[in-house]
Amino acid sequence: MSFDYDLFVIGAGSGGVRAARIAATHGARVAVAEEYRVGGTCVIRGCVPKKLMVYASRFADDFSDAAGFGWTVGETAFDWPSFVAAKDREIARLEGLYGANLDRAKVEILRTRAVIDGPNRVRLGDGRVVSAAHVLVATGGRPVREGGFPGAEHCITSEELFDLKRLPKRLVVVGGAYIALEFASIFAGLGSEVTVLYRGEEILRGFDMEVRRHLHAELEGRGITIVTGDGLTAVEKTADGLLGTTRGGRRIGADEIVLAIGRRPNTGGLGLETVGLELAENGAIPVEGVFATRLPWLHAVGDVTDRVALTPVAIREGHAFADTVFGGRNVAVSHDLVPTAVFTTPEVGTVGVGEEDLRAKGIGHDVYRSTFRPMRATLAGRGARTLMKILVEAESDRVAGVHIVGPDAAEMIQLVAVAMKMGAKKGDFDATMALHPSAAEELVTMRTPSSSWRPGG
Ligand code: FAD
Ligand code: NDP
Repeated sequence: MSFDYDLFVIGAGSGGVRAARIAATHGARVAVAEEYRVGGTCVIRGCVPKKLMVYASRFADDFSDAAGFGWTVGETAFDWPSFVAAKDREIARLEGLYGANLDRAKVEILRTRAVIDGPNRVRLGDGRVVSAAHVLVATGGRPVREGGFPGAEHCITSEELFDLKRLPKRLVVVGGAYIALEFASIFAGLGSEVTVLYRGEEILRGFDMEVRRHLHAELEGRGITIVTGDGLTAVEKTADGLLGTTRGGRRIGADEIVLAIGRRPNTGGLGLETVGLELAENGAIPVEGVFATRLPWLHAVGDVTDRVALTPVAIREGHAFADTVFGGRNVAVSHDLVPTAVFTTPEVGTVGVGEEDLRAKGIGHDVYRSTFRPMRATLAGRGARTLMKILVEAESDRVAGVHIVGPDAAEMIQLVAVAMKMGAKKGDFDATMALHPSAAEELVTMRTPSSSWRPGG
């Protein structure tokens, strides 16, 4: 049977672009459809513009710290429209680079929505139907907008935050995970008055409890109000913005209210029912191994599979798919020991498990802990504290988790992950010479456990 393409990719985001480009370099005839902008969530309205905002938000600290080091800094001011324009230029540049790389690899880019129209068939926005030997769904996810209360339509999500016309004076963020906390931190740094409303007992569920508490205290220390155990029951428009009412009886005024309450796989209206593919309850495409669905011609990678929703993971999955299906070699992707960072200020870097996970698994362990004032904060006169934790399995001496809250945590944890992936033991950390003066040297100089836990003990 002959097909229009060897591979049709739906979605030109992190996973889709990589899969399309690598499959084409293996000699496949490839098309990729994108309904919004080439680059996907990460480049256009996720990691990249977010990180640029993180940088923008941290200059306030630089200016005030500088005084402690003898500098006189004149009057400073932040201009939101100038920042947004500069950020947009950079995103457009990256979008162009992604497109150029696809062109160079001879991937056909179709700037349209595409949906499944039957086995090996894809329908484009203009109604045209094309066929492909393989179809890869890499459609990512979208933010949940349903707050479940009257007035939720007045709220925004991360997608609108990047392009606000004005910097909000008062911002309420609903949610207590990556997106909620990163944006709370960014806007607080830019001068907004920020309130985080989180339904649970402690922010950042799933992370080590001490990390969660430490970050909570640090964020509050930087002027962010964090309300736990509460949530919105209504939002109404007022003369000067919005008014949110909470279950706990609070009334909070805001210029913008952001729902950062999770993301859902982008499978709505994708036509998967036409080929009898059953989805998970939240709309995710179930896959076996790295990318295989129940149908031999249909594959999925990235956020749409709802496994580890991070860009490098989507890229690895897309690359492995292309190498396996078109490059003739079976490539596995490990979802184990994936390092991750929350780009708050201070930031969190984590790899491996937390104390609670080890206890739940009944694994005896020692906890090495260090908290200290970052050197830069001393002359600056800031009260910030860094937390570093190494969790070591008692029986094997293997390092099971490393958690850092403090400046440069993301940069440090990437390299710690290499060591852990190699099976590093605490003895290997101890045998490594410290680099002085640095924050990272704490990771190789902690000698005495601050606590230990043994099953039944
Ligand atoms: P996406 O990058 O979402 O790409 C999917 C593409 O498919 C989109 O361009 C979409 O328009 C397109 N599409 C969807 N349906 C169709 C259709 N029917 N037809 C045509 N096109 C379609 N991850 C990190 O690792 N680090 C971070 O710092 C980080 N920060 C983030 C910040 C925010 C605010 C958000 C929202 C996410 C962040 N992420 C981060 C997560 C990261 O962006 C995602 O994990 C990653 O983009 C997933 O890649 P993907 O290829 O699965 O999907
Ligand atoms: P998450 O799914 O991680 O968290 C959602 C948050 O919203 C949780 O705090 C959750 O509470 C809360 N929540 C869920 N439903 C409701 C509701 N109905 N009402 C009130 N609160 C609710 O989503 P995010 O949107 O933060 O991020 C999505 C994913 O994107 C992340 O998990 C991550 O994989 C990726 N990402 C990565 C980043 C990075 O690498 N730096 C940055 C941004 C995103 P509860 O804890 O109680 O469930």
